[in-house]
Order: sequence, then structure tokens, then C-alpha cells
Amino acid sequence: MTRVADEKTGLGNYFVANYPPFSCWKREYVRDALAALHKPPAQGTPLGLYLHIPFCRKRCKFCYFRVYTDKNARDVETYQRALLKEVELYSQLPIVGGRPLTYVYFGGGTPSYLSASQLRSLMEGLQRYFSWTGAEEVTFECEPGTLQEHKLATLKELGVTRLSLGIENFDDAILETNGRAHLSAEIFRAYDWARKLGFDQINIDLIAGMLGENWDNWKSCIQKTIELSPDSVTIYQMELPFNTVFSKELKMVGDSEPVVSPDLIADWPTKRAWVHYAFDQLLDAGYEISSAYTLVKDRQRCRFVYRDSLWHGADMFGTGVASFGHVNGVHVQNVDTWDNYIAMLERGELPLNRALPISAEQRLIREMILQLKTGRLDKQYFQAKFGVDIAERFRDEFAELQTDGYAVSHNGTIELTREGYLYVDRLLPRFFEPEFRVARYT
Ligand code: SF4
Repeated sequence: MTRVADEKTGLGNYFVANYPPFSCWKREYVRDALAALHKPPAQGTPLGLYLHIPFCRKRCKFCYFRVYTDKNARDVETYQRALLKEVELYSQLPIVGGRPLTYVYFGGGTPSYLSASQLRSLMEGLQRYFSWTGAEEVTFECEPGTLQEHKLATLKELGVTRLSLGIENFDDAILETNGRAHLSAEIFRAYDWARKLGFDQINIDLIAGMLGENWDNWKSCIQKTIELSPDSVTIYQMELPFNTVFSKELKMVGDSEPVVSPDLIADWPTKRAWVHYAFDQLLDAGYEISSAYTLVKDRQRCRFVYRDSLWHGADMFGTGVASFGHVNGVHVQNVDTWDNYIAMLERGELPLNRALPISAEQRLIREMILQLKTGRLDKQYFQAKFGVDIAERFRDEFAELQTDGYAVSHNGTIELTREGYLYVDRLLPRFFEPEFRVARYT
């Protein structure tokens, strides 16, 4: 079995979120994005809306998202105005083609940083341009310490169906070391309110390998998760991207290839062992695997429409500073500074910064690697949509995965083994076109 040589947690991204890599998206392709937005949609393509709320109480030390911790109420109001303008501009474009929204996702940042009245005015304002009454899912990310019962009641009333709680860990010392703003008491309080209010789905996010994590604490985190009994549990393996507080603070060892001291952060085999343990415990407790990161209580009821739509090539307007979207076969990202974002919308312009039109081959690869994360690839789907027999086209790559014990093939489907789930993001670059295997990812 071949194994990746470097198992220390070094600096850089591990998670593969999209294809082709972000480093290839360019400003000169914004004109392609604009052209794509002015065309009608491809038949049968669902439409979603992502809204980035870039405020947080504190910056977590591992965070690399575009977030602000120093904005006041007037700034929040300015941002909301810009966001509403952006959504209004999108609502007038031919690409909408009369489609209703299939999904809405409030991400961040911390959407729950906004007060109940700010949320009401934002959400009511948004619905002037796009109603989400018929949407299959409206997800809202929350930081437990920002929640009050009346805020959750407002979200429920405004149509949120899937609440995602960024718990990450249940231990106060670990939460503090990693710069999280919330403490464990706030988790239980927020969870009880959310349950009482009857949201359709509650998801809990955990991170395996936060600084200070150990086996005893991780087992206790999984135990507490099972006791809370959320509808879904999402577990990420801790990465150390560049430009985070940790990447600057942590002691580096090694010269050419800086590696964080293993005394400070768990290595990859330990993090995988923690995820492996969590999968076992959650499966024993009746959960089912929904992807390499997520387990759900009931696959029929706990769908994740945002994820599955994106992974099957849906359109999505990515609104808010630095947001990513996908429109009519073109990847697009907004400008990533506050001033530019606000100024462009005040001028009535879509705040696009860079884009990449993708070929049919790249669409196929993108969907294939993203869907592989669910643990299962359906050859018929790719045959029907792209006219390609993926088992034949990627024969060598799939053979390698099987030889290495990461995948098995069962009449027409390719399935990941447990090892495959644990390593999934490292398995994907082999499917990239040659020039992107060597390109920087972000
Ligand atoms: S709450 Fe989320 S977005 Fe905000 S700083 Fe922490 S990780 Fe980043």
C-alpha cells in the first residue's frame, strides 16, 4: 500500500473545495462571468444563493476566511445595504430565467453575529428579490455564544430549516487556546433552544486536531455529541493554512519545508485515527455516512441540498465580500476587500474580482472528485450527463485507488473504503489535468 511520506501537519491547505484550483482563476476572465450571467440558464440546472456574513466576535487562530472583528453597527448596516444591492443586481439578470431558489446558505464569518432585528431586516429585504418560501433548504451557520432564544425564534420564523452550530470542541481550555469566542456552557444552552424551537435539521461541526487535543478529550467530545443527538455531525481534520494566527505564532521546525512541531499539533495519522474513531462511534449510535466529513441520523430526512447541488453542478450566486459562486459553467469570486466591495455596489456594479470558464472535461472532473467525497460514484450519472464512462476514462486512477485499499468497485458504482474516506482530499489530485497537479491550489 503506498502512503504519503510526510505525515506531519505542515503549513498549507489540505481540503479540496473546487476544481480547477483557485490559483488559476483570473481577473481577465471576469468578462466570461459577465457573459455567462447574461445568458439564460442551462435547462434543469438548480439555482442557489450563498450569502457571506463576514463578522466574528474574535478571529479563531486557525481561520483563513475573510472576516472582520472590528466593525460597528453602522458598518453592519453599510454591509447589509451592499449585500441587498448585490442580490438585487443578480435578480435582474437573464441567468435567473424565472428559476426559484432551490437552496439558500448563510455562511461566514458568523451570520448569527447579527442581532435579531438586523436579521429580520436583512432577510425580509432579500426576499423582495428572491423568495425562499419554496426552497428545499435554508441553512444558517451559528456560533453558539452569539445565540439567544429570541434570535433563534426569529430565524425559525424567517424560514431557516437547517441550523449549523460551529461547536468544534466541547473543552473550554481547547476552545480558548484555539481562539474560539464561545465556551461549552453556551453550546448546551443554544442547542436546547434550537431543539425546542423545532428546526428541521441541526448540524454540529467538530474539528479533529485542534491545538491541545488528545485522545481522552476527543472521546469525550464524541460522547457529548452523541448525547446531544444532532441530526448531522460534520468533522473536519484540522489544517494550518497560511495567513492564519497559528501559521505566524507556532514554532516551526525544519528549514526548506517548514513543519509545525508535533508537540504542538497532532500529525495526520492521529487526526485520521480520531475521525476513524468518531465514525465508528457514530455508526454504532445509528448514524449513517453521508460524506467523508458528515454523518447523518436519517439519510432520507437529513439531506444537505446546498452541498449536493453544488457537487452536481448547480448554479450559485456567491454574494458578500470574497464569496465564491458558479454561474453557467463559469467559476467566479468577488473582490476580497471591504472598501472595494462596498464601493462597487454603491456604484451599482457586481463586485466580481476573478473568474474561470471551465471546459466540459473540467466540469466532469469537478463533479467526479466532489461526488467521490460522498463515498460513492454512480457511473450511470456521468454517462447520462457527460457521455463518458468514467471507469474507462480514469481506469488507471481507479485501479490505483483499489490497489491501495482506498476504493472498491461494485456493479456500476465506485465506493470508498474507510481508508478512502479518511484520506479523501489526498486522493483527488490524481484526477486533475496534468497542469493542475503541479499548480498551487489556492
Ligand atoms: S467563527 Fe468561523 S469564520 Fe469566524 S473566525 Fe472563527 S473560524 Fe473564522
